[in-house]
Amino acid sequence: MKKKLIIAIDGYSSCGKSTFARAIAKELNYIFIDSGAMYRAVTLYCMRRDFIGKGNINIEGIIRELKDIHIEFVYNPDIAEYETFLNSENVEKEIRGIEVSAHVSRISQIPEVRARMVELQRQIGVFKGIVMDGRDIGTVVFPDADLKIFMTALVEIRAKRRYDELINKGVNVDFEEIRKNIVARDITDENRDISPLRRADDAIVLDNSRMTVEEQMTWVRQIIEKKINGS
Ligand code: C5P
Repeated sequence: MKKKLIIAIDGYSSCGKSTFARAIAKELNYIFIDSGAMYRAVTLYCMRRDFIGKGNINIEGIIRELKDIHIEFVYNPDIAEYETFLNSENVEKEIRGIEVSAHVSRISQIPEVRARMVELQRQIGVFKGIVMDGRDIGTVVFPDADLKIFMTALVEIRAKRRYDELINKGVNVDFEEIRKNIVARDITDENRDISPLRRADDAIVLDNSRMTVEEQMTWVRQIIEKKINGS
């Protein structure tokens, strides 16, 4: 049987980590997990419960109700993709909106939230054959991952990609607001005390500012081939 890998993809906001991770998972027939979607789903729950908003945050409330937050990825055959479910409700579209984006980095700083998410992420990875993208996958969730990639790209290019993606999904957004949100999230993610965004020492850096997804796939195929065949 072919060796199954754990592939960790970390990096800055809106670098195309999920698109890349999803494409790799499809090609290898692996499970793809968008760990950012999990933090986004927790954030949506907190917004609905009024635990976060207008400069306020109720950390005790969030911690108390963490056990009531159930996140699943459910396959939608119509689009051949997995979608994020929060307590049995499809929240895939809502968690991508600018409101959730504005609060998610604050929620993901809470140690109890991180501990719970990391626990769930490790459970999913137990059988290997997984591609997971996020901020701390290669450093904290799977420090022994077989392959670690750290992605980066120019801010303007990242903002344009996110803008196009949201407009295509029918979400009404302002380019400048998106750009500011990306910069702000990078700063918060890099500077938080617990599991800050940073490149693992053994991660390979991929700057995809001027690369298409196909070019990224050509690049990664050779690396994966070597990992699987050990040549
Ligand atoms: O990947 P995405 O941009 O959807 O992630 C949303 C936010 O979730 C990030 O800005 C970060 O604050 C948080 N996150 C995290 N750790 C991860 C994945 C995401 O803290 N592994």
